[in-house]
Amino acid sequence: MAEIELTSVLTCPQCGHKSSESMPTDSCLYYYECQGCGSLLKPLPEDCCVFCSYGSVPCPPIQQARLDAACEKTTDGGCCQ
Ligand SMILES: [Zn+2]
Repeated sequence: MAEIELTSVLTCPQCGHKSSESMPTDSCLYYYECQGCGSLLKPLPEDCCVFCSYGSVPCPPIQQARLDAACEKTTDGGCCQ
């Protein structure tokens, strides 16, 4: 089982405020209110949640998808067994 990072540092695009937030593993956080300026952050059009758009690491489902994609590229049976 590969490591999934469950804490992401969100950076507000309006004021630059950084906040370390824990991420739910089974859902996406679509709205986030900046603790610095009060802006309501929403994901960019191509992203599923605010962590993917503004976080230091993307949300757990995306991390898992990337791990799965990397696993399929290995020739020795993969890393996810
Ligand atoms: Zn802000």
